[in-house]
Amino acid sequence: MIAILKNGTTEEQTAHLVSWLKHMNLDVHVSKGAEMTVLGLIGDTSRVDMELLSSLEIVSSVKRVSEPFKQANRKFHPNDSIIQVGNVKIGGGYFAMIAGPCSVESEEQIIEVAQAVKESGANILRGGAFKPRTSPYAFQGMKEAGIQLLLKAKEATGLPIVTEIMNISALDLFADVDIIQVGARNMQNFDLLKELGKTNKPILLKRGLANTLQELLMSAEYIMSEGNENVILCERGIRTFETYTRNTLDLSAVSVLHELSHLPVVVDPSHATGKSRLVPPMAMAAAAAGADGIMVEVHNNPSCALCDGAQSLTPAQFDELNHRVQKIREAIV
Ligand code: PEP
Ligand code: MN
Repeated sequence: MIAILKNGTTEEQTAHLVSWLKHMNLDVHVSKGAEMTVLGLIGDTSRVDMELLSSLEIVSSVKRVSEPFKQANRKFHPNDSIIQVGNVKIGGGYFAMIAGPCSVESEEQIIEVAQAVKESGANILRGGAFKPRTSPYAFQGMKEAGIQLLLKAKEATGLPIVTEIMNISALDLFADVDIIQVGARNMQNFDLLKELGKTNKPILLKRGLANTLQELLMSAEYIMSEGNENVILCERGIRTFETYTRNTLDLSAVSVLHELSHLPVVVDPSHATGKSRLVPPMAMAAAAAGADGIMVEVHNNPSCALCDGAQSLTPAQFDELNHRVQKIREAIV
């Protein structure tokens, strides 16, 4: 349920109403925008007398929110959320250009790629240390050592870092990681989501291979309902009958998620297509669709990459892509 307050309602009046609602065992979310203040009521709202609430002097309207996701819902928070990552902002007009290798492979590799992508305009460095691989015989990532190398690359370049967590028991290793990624395969690992909700780290939540947008938002809700509102959504392609591309990039997800939610939406054209030549056009299309960021895989020597070489751009290709994406962004403002 949401209650929209009238313009001119004072802080004191708002606080009074919030405390009254909290006495009914509800969680109250206050979203103060330039135009209006919205109170989002979470919990068992069946006991709230809508007539009574609507009749209050300071209340302009009261509505039930039918969607099962509440805190992620734009109705609760009409303005775009802006997620702060170090000195980088994502959402509400701020664009994340996230680039780096699929996996951290060595110190030279990650530092070289980090410096190159920074030079080309990336503002966040990606790199997998814990890798969810289909085959148990494939390279599983450098794990703790990989995180240490990412931290070295962060120190060398000043870029904030994003890397994937697979198991909550590894959380301590992520203390200096700027954004924790939840990969597609863990999108519905609800225990993991709940634990990440107890931290205050920004979480990059990737859409599952066969999950609907509502399921993605419900997973965001798991994190937010535990208190962590710093969620960034990521469209990375879904399974369809098409086999030519690794997945099918669902670009309409950008608009739908922006309609339904205030959370920023990033697009990953690398895992969506699986082919490096398809990455630049899909990155540009994502920017044109209004994505709040792009995440692309970049490797200094894609043909020798331990993971996902076929979809990785060279630093020179990334440089070119970045210019083109920036041009698209300028064109759509
Ligand atoms: C990744 O970004 O490294 C990754 C494994 O992606 P996804 O979870 O989308 O497959
Ligand atoms: Mn990858």
